[in-house]
Amino acid sequence: MRPSFFADAMLGSLARWLRIMGYDVLLSDNSMADDGILNILKKEGGRMLLTRDKLLAGRALRADLRVILLDSDSLDNQIFQLLDYVEIDAACLFTRCPHCGSVLEGISKEEAEMSGMVPEGSLKNSVKFWHCPSCGRYYWKGSHWPKIIERLRKWGISVDERNYS
Ligand SMILES: [Zn+2]
Repeated sequence: MRPSFFADAMLGSLARWLRIMGYDVLLSDNSMADDGILNILKKEGGRMLLTRDKLLAGRALRADLRVILLDSDSLDNQIFQLLDYVEIDAACLFTRCPHCGSVLEGISKEEAEMSGMVPEGSLKNSVKFWHCPSCGRYYWKGSHWPKIIERLRKWGISVDERNYS
């Protein structure tokens, strides 16, 4: 089974990238105390805690929860550390909303156009579109795409771009 995660609030960027890779990631908000995080982990059974906080990681371990204590503040290093634990499945790339983590739905160009949320230039230049049923965002292969691909390649993750255009 693919692991799922609960990321500490300070790991927003890592959470976003793991979602781009198709992982189910809940992100804590800053107001959530350690007790709250541990309670969610107990309730959600199996979700792995990602944190930079040694004290929190220690408490999670003592409560028999799964935890990965990240060694670095750098996103690159965090990803490389996680790649020791998780396997990237190309079929899962870009299947989740980076913003909220929900599973995206593929929609037709007509639906994208009718939403009024996709700029005309993007409608003209793209064929595939996705919609997040939870937060309502729309996605397509936009101008930021080459940067995302470059980043993934740097981490050793190759993307078959034909699947997304
Ligand atoms: Zn969303």
